[in-house]
Amino acid sequence: MAPATVDALVATLDEHVKSGERAQVISGGTDLLVQMRSIDKTPRTIVDIKKLAETNRCEIGADEIYIGAAVSSALMNENAELRKLLPGLLEAADLIGSTQIQGRATIGGNLCNASPAGDSIPAMIAVGAVCDIASSAGQRSLPVEEFVVGVGRNALAPGEVLLGLKIPMPGARQSSAYLRFIPRTEMDIAVAGCGVDLTLDEKGVCTAARVAIGAVAPTALLVPAAADALIGTSLDDAAIHAAGEACTAAASPISDKRGTVEYRKKVVAVLARRAAAIAKQRALGA
Ligand SMILES: Cc1cc2nc3c(=O)[nH]c(=O)nc-3n(C[C@H](O)[C@H](O)[C@H](O)COP(=O)(O)OP(=O)(O)OC[C@H]3O[C@@H](n4cnc5c(N)ncnc54)[C@H](O)[C@@H]3O)c2cc1C
Repeated sequence: MAPATVDALVATLDEHVKSGERAQVISGGTDLLVQMRSIDKTPRTIVDIKKLAETNRCEIGADEIYIGAAVSSALMNENAELRKLLPGLLEAADLIGSTQIQGRATIGGNLCNASPAGDSIPAMIAVGAVCDIASSAGQRSLPVEEFVVGVGRNALAPGEVLLGLKIPMPGARQSSAYLRFIPRTEMDIAVAGCGVDLTLDEKGVCTAARVAIGAVAPTALLVPAAADALIGTSLDDAAIHAAGEACTAAASPISDKRGTVEYRKKVVAVLARRAAAIAKQRALGA
C-alpha cells in the first residue's frame, strides 16, 4: 500500500502494530527486495513512502537542509546547489551501487538498513544530520550517530518511520568529504570509509570538525578524538596524521574476505587523512 499523507502512513503502521501483523516500509527497495528474495521471505504488508510529498521534500532553507527519506541518490546528485553545500554526503550517495541503483536508492533507506558498510552513514554523521522520525504519537528527532544501534538494527520503535534528514546549513569556510576503499573499482562494499566535515577561520585555523568512520565497527562511529586532533590547528600534516591515528584507535573491525582487522585499521587512517585534506581544500575554496 502507498499512503497519501503522513497521517495515513503512521495510522497504517500503528494499525499493524496493534493487530500484530507485520508491516515494512519500502523506499527505493534496493536492499529490501534483495532481502525478501534471499534472506527473509515471510509475508508482510509493504508500505511505500515514494508517493508522499513529505518524504520527497528536498529543501535548502536558511538554516537547514531537508532531504526526505524517499529522495533518490540520483535526484540528490542532479541538484547542483546540494552538491556545492554537501559535497561529502553527495559523493557518498554517488558511490551507492550503479546508475540504475541510484535511480531508486535513498540515503534514508541506506541508514534504516543499518549496514556497518552503508556509505552514506559516516557522511551523514560528519555533516551533523539529524533524523526526522514520525509515528502516531507525533514526531521526534535523533542524531544519525544514535540511530544505528547494531548490525542491521536501528532505533526506530514499532510504528515509527523515518520521514527525512535535517542537516544544519554549512557556514562560511565549512566543507566536507567522504572516501571509501573497496577491493574492486565499483559495485562493492566498503572495506573502510571516512566522512570529514571541517570549518576554518579567516586564517585557515580549524574551529570545528566532525570525523566519522564506517565499515570498521558494528556501526558507523563519530570519532571525537579525531576532531580534537584537528581543531585549533592549521590542519598541518601532524594534525591530520593524528586524526588518522585516532580513527585507527576507534576502529574495531572484523576480518573477512575483503580485509583483515589490521588492514582495515590501517586503511581507515589513510582515508581519514585524505578526506581531511580534501575537506580542507574545499573549505578554503580551492
Ligand atoms: C547492486 C547493489 C549495489 C549496492 N551498492 C551499495 C554501495 O556501494 N554502498 C551502499 O552503502 N549500499 C549499496 N547497496 C545497498 C542499497 O542500495 C543501499 O543501502 C540503498 O541506499 C538503500 O536504499 P533504499 O531506498 O533502496 O532502501 P530500501 O531497500 O527501500 O529499504 C532498506 C531498509 O530500510 C527500511 N526503510 C527504508 N526507508 C525507510 C523509512 N523511511 N523509514 C523506516 N524504514 C525504512 C526498509 O524497511 C528496509 O529494511 C547496493 C545494493 C545493490 C542491490
